[in-house]
Amino acid sequence: MRVAFFSTKSYDKESFNNRLENTKHEFTYFEPKLDINTIALAKGFDAICSFVNDHLDIKTLTKLSEMGVKNILLRCAGYNQVDLKKAKELGFKICRVPAYSPEAVAEHALALLMTLSRKTHKAYNRVRENNYSLEGLTGFNIHGKKAGIIGTGAIGKAFCKIMIGMGCKVVAYDLYENEELKILGVQYIPMDELLAESDIISLHCPLTPDTFHLINQKTLTLMKDGVVIINTSRGALIETKAVIKALKSKKVGNLGIDVYEQEEDLFFQNRSEEILQDEQISRLMAFPNVLVTGHQAFLTNEALAQIAETTLKNLDELDAGKELTNEVLWKEE
Ligand code: NAD
Repeated sequence: MRVAFFSTKSYDKESFNNRLENTKHEFTYFEPKLDINTIALAKGFDAICSFVNDHLDIKTLTKLSEMGVKNILLRCAGYNQVDLKKAKELGFKICRVPAYSPEAVAEHALALLMTLSRKTHKAYNRVRENNYSLEGLTGFNIHGKKAGIIGTGAIGKAFCKIMIGMGCKVVAYDLYENEELKILGVQYIPMDELLAESDIISLHCPLTPDTFHLINQKTLTLMKDGVVIINTSRGALIETKAVIKALKSKKVGNLGIDVYEQEEDLFFQNRSEEILQDEQISRLMAFPNVLVTGHQAFLTNEALAQIAETTLKNLDELDAGKELTNEVLWKEE
């Protein structure tokens, strides 16, 4: 099959090109994000391969279908960017990479938490300037804290294990309880209790209509004063306006985010020469107790290798008309 890659970065090209010998398919890499304005690039291809912020909405899917491209390979786990109902109606086959080193994302959540807890980002800059003052660097122990994990799928499970290892009391909320985690001592409790009791809250559930703005003005009031919130899942799980207000009032003591509600027009590009137009992210970055990374939690050698390998397996199955191991299907609510 001829595959058009969208939102391609150098590390994507490298990991897929490293596997060219093992595939009969042809790859063309496009840098632009996939949306209605760039969809013409997909003309003449058999499949498209897209990433988290590519737009597979009704308009794009309709155009893609008219162009005769019916196969979509998502090189990511989440699929909230795809209008699955429309895709089903138009007869698309869609595959994803359900798990690519969940530990990569869980370890990044830990990196955000530990940077905030020990202010190593500030210490790094100070020492480089020959400033060895410790004033303002007082941190807090993670050991002994109560960590509340929302979503205990692949990544949430890995993060629960890390938090147990750090000496935390781990509580969790998910629609389904994980027996292995219960044996390890994780206690499943209702969401409101988790929000009220946790010192650290880490989000690992997908973005769905049910989880949109899960952290909002109302749920923030339930939380402990000084709570630490970590989000490596999807930006819109947090209502940015509400969390800014909670940071100002010190209800939220620390915020570590790898994902941001309005990241789509911001992340994955070098914008250092531009005037930042997004008032909310500028406000967030002005807080000394907020750490933002640009959706890099997945970015390890191990995860990139897994993404490429699973995507190629998905492509082989699509090409052979086989049953699809990693098919994404629309489910009626
Ligand atoms: P997963 O499907 O293995 O686990 C998701 C869990 O969330 C499941 O256990 C599910 O039951 C639970 N869940 C669903 N709805 C819920 C709700 N309303 N309340 C509580 N729990 C709910 O997914 P995963 O691989 O662990 O990934 C989790 C999320 O992480 C993905 O959806 C994706 O958005 C995000 N992610 C981010 C990065 C990154 O680089 N930052 C990389 C990969 C994945």
